[in-house]
Amino acid sequence: MRKFTLFIRLSAVVFATIFATVSIAQSTEAIIDSIVAEAFNRSQLEPLAKELLDGIGPRLVGSPNMQKANDWAVEKYKSWGINARNEQWGEWRGWERGVSHIDLVYPRVKSLEGMQLAWSPSTKGKTKTGEVIILPNLTDSVAFANWLPNAKGKYVLISMNQPTGRPDYNWQEFGTKTSFDKMKTNRAAQTEAWRKRIANTGYTNRTLPVALEKAGAIGIVMSNWSSGFGVNKIFSAYTKKIPTVDLSLEDYGLLYRLTEEGASPKISVRADSKENGVVPTFNTIAEIKGSEKPNEYVMLSAHFDSWDGAAGATDNGTGTLTMMEAIRILKKYYPNPKRTILVGHWGSEEQGLNGSRAFVEDHPEIVNNLQALFNQDNGTGRVVNISGQGFEKAKEFIPRWLSKVPDEIRKPIVTSFPGTPGGGGSDFASFVAVGAPGFSLSSLNWSYFNYTWHTNRDTYDKIVFDDVKNNAALAAIMAYMASEDPEKTSREKAVLPVNPQTGRTAVWPAQVKATRKGGID
Ligand SMILES: [Zn+2]
Repeated sequence: MRKFTLFIRLSAVVFATIFATVSIAQSTEAIIDSIVAEAFNRSQLEPLAKELLDGIGPRLVGSPNMQKANDWAVEKYKSWGINARNEQWGEWRGWERGVSHIDLVYPRVKSLEGMQLAWSPSTKGKTKTGEVIILPNLTDSVAFANWLPNAKGKYVLISMNQPTGRPDYNWQEFGTKTSFDKMKTNRAAQTEAWRKRIANTGYTNRTLPVALEKAGAIGIVMSNWSSGFGVNKIFSAYTKKIPTVDLSLEDYGLLYRLTEEGASPKISVRADSKENGVVPTFNTIAEIKGSEKPNEYVMLSAHFDSWDGAAGATDNGTGTLTMMEAIRILKKYYPNPKRTILVGHWGSEEQGLNGSRAFVEDHPEIVNNLQALFNQDNGTGRVVNISGQGFEKAKEFIPRWLSKVPDEIRKPIVTSFPGTPGGGGSDFASFVAVGAPGFSLSSLNWSYFNYTWHTNRDTYDKIVFDDVKNNAALAAIMAYMASEDPEKTSREKAVLPVNPQTGRTAVWPAQVKATRKGGID
């Protein structure tokens, strides 16, 4: 009996060894083929996008939607058999966006396109009607202080009235050179004059709304045009009691002209929101434990939070979905990675990389044993750039891993080695700052900066799913290759280049501490 058992065991060992050798020899290609086939033929990106972007929506730090998204991701991972957890890293002012209604009610009626800014104080279900005035052009802060009582009971327009709602590329295409040049010259002069108008108040863009509020204004009206058709950027309000609303360029221009012409327009504004006190903030971390080197880590990451002017579809819904889809695929075809594979969904990137900075501070055991991190955060486009971020040996391992990526995904990617270490652009920089190999999977732009980045048009329809599939396959293959690599990556820093303007050698960016409490007075 003992002899027989031993024979079985020995055969099992021999068989397992032969099988393992054979399967490893074949597996790189086979696994990569499976990853690519799953990414393109059995993609889960569309259902995930609908659940996250349509069902939950924008994910402002401290909002109930952000919490919902954190919980949704953990549940989704569990449904795929992947361990996931929400790790608290800080706390934030809890604010929940309600309805925004802004209507022109005099001299004619028109509903206006606009919304309150994030963290705008609530009108508590009430609609307030008042006359609109334009921030006056005064000589200095004394004159402004004397004028301030005139703001009482008024909605104050504090943005420049843009001379055109057509983006420059449209002028370029259809305008005469003379008229395009004239428009640009006039706009530059007007922009400078408006900058001076603000400066002459003695306040800044940040403190002026508060001064107007203190003087009794009933609301601040602005327009932060994003240089494309119909796009505005929607950031934070600075007022404490009265609403701050952003109007589309078109409707802001209408109000501005009516005011200038002496029509004394009136608007009514309802901008509801809810304060939820101080709420905890989280990073969502997913994990497939390593089988051979569980204490070495490969990370995929993307920030999970967004501004809340729209759905945060491309900033950074698409990065989020790319990494979720990548690890879903890995779990299916590479369930026992050599090294531990993590996905980091960071909170509060938009206020200064806070979730990833906190993670770097809280997890030296991961950061010090990081094989590589790949972050994606510039829209829906195909990845076309990877920089070595100033790591001397990145030129060895990144091309080695990329070499296994199928031609159609790999060929458009321009690599630069050693490259220069990224500063505050996105979360990979939190890792680079402490000398850990963090890299950015950088996308082609699909008019990202004007049309979707932080705008009221960052919505589901802007997603180019074929490109996101491409990126999910790339992220999965890079994670797979980084996990399998027999060598540990080097952290040697390259000699950084001399800046031709200053004549000084570039310096490695310093670690910046995470802001762990936000918006709390
Ligand atoms: Zn982003």
